[in-house]
Amino acid sequence: MDLFKKCYEYDQSKMIKAAGVYPYFCPIEESHGSWVRCRGKKLVMIGSNNYLGLTHDPRVKEAAIEATRRFGTGCTGSRFLNGNLTLHEELEQRLARFVGKPAALVFSTGFLTNLGAISCLANEGEFIFSDSENHASIISGCSASKAKVIRYGHNNMPEMVEKLKQNANGAVLVVTDGVFSMTGNIADLPGLVKIKKNNPRVRLYVDDAHSFGVLGNGGRGTSDHFGLTEEVDLIMGTFSKTFASIGGFVASEPDVIEFIRHKARALIFSAAAPAASVAAVLKCLDIMESEPEHVEQLRKNTKKMTKGFESLGINILPSKTAIIPVHVGEDLMSFKLVHELFERGLFATPVIYPAVPPGDSLIRTSYMASHTEDDLNFVLDVFSDLAKEYPFLKRG
Ligand code: PMP
Repeated sequence: MDLFKKCYEYDQSKMIKAAGVYPYFCPIEESHGSWVRCRGKKLVMIGSNNYLGLTHDPRVKEAAIEATRRFGTGCTGSRFLNGNLTLHEELEQRLARFVGKPAALVFSTGFLTNLGAISCLANEGEFIFSDSENHASIISGCSASKAKVIRYGHNNMPEMVEKLKQNANGAVLVVTDGVFSMTGNIADLPGLVKIKKNNPRVRLYVDDAHSFGVLGNGGRGTSDHFGLTEEVDLIMGTFSKTFASIGGFVASEPDVIEFIRHKARALIFSAAAPAASVAAVLKCLDIMESEPEHVEQLRKNTKKMTKGFESLGINILPSKTAIIPVHVGEDLMSFKLVHELFERGLFATPVIYPAVPPGDSLIRTSYMASHTEDDLNFVLDVFSDLAKEYPFLKRG
């Protein structure tokens, strides 16, 4: 018996590498936000979550550098003990105001935010209802909780109502992505809020990782988009996308935030985000609050790409956000096509089972405010060419 036997026998990645289409861990040699250099090739980036293109804004970079000068490169400990900077607290106040909640709590990553907040909020004898397409970090938060976890079909409100009836005793945390990370679908927040109003034992948690900068007034997320900020109990976000950094947060009422602050193991036992990361987010908030044109530009770019793909007849999923997935089918084919895109000058990412149902693999493309007209036209030209060689990319 050898613990490593499974490692020695694991050959999935080796087979894809041998086929020459391995799409993961691509080493980026140079990044300019909307384009990168990878294995010597210049590529337009349509595989990132840098929705407003702020990672390369000189003001954001300067804020990170200045914070490093002031606080050093790392916090070398958890916020609970020695790693709590005034910058973390300033950011919490700014984020709370930005999303329209009285309090917020900053974690070191988005993954840790979901892991820490969800697992401590729902306990034994309670329930978590989780959308079947929720992000892996939500699933990990559910697994780490002692609550009973009930998955409901994607945005399937009748199923949720039925399952609530079947599990009639105990407080419930309903958790959903605001914008689903692989398909760009928007959560049925009005439907969830209606259910919450009919079930006083329900609290609602929305992961807005892909919604900030994208939906709502000034990019304030899904709850703002639907005018339901009051009704959503917890708004969660990450800094690894629009906020051009790394980290995460959850916003809610002060007592709830105070509880999570003292109960979330992922906060207490993990080192704090470095000053540079926090200062970058603060600068992004300044920019988003004073320059609404970035969100507007992203919306224009997204509209152009949706229309462009549609006029080419490409089989895209009906997304209303900055994520526009192209339907492929077989997993291996999506690897092959991502490789073809790479060869033609595009950096895109494949999405395969279990992130999507088996046989429904996708090429996930996503757009930034900083993509130029030329970048976007180039993307459409490449897909137009590719569809000539692979006609199944077009709607039948
Ligand atoms: N939630 C969602 C919906 C995500 O897509 C992601 C990351 N892709 C996370 C949480 C985790 O965020 P982070 O990368 O900041 O850990």
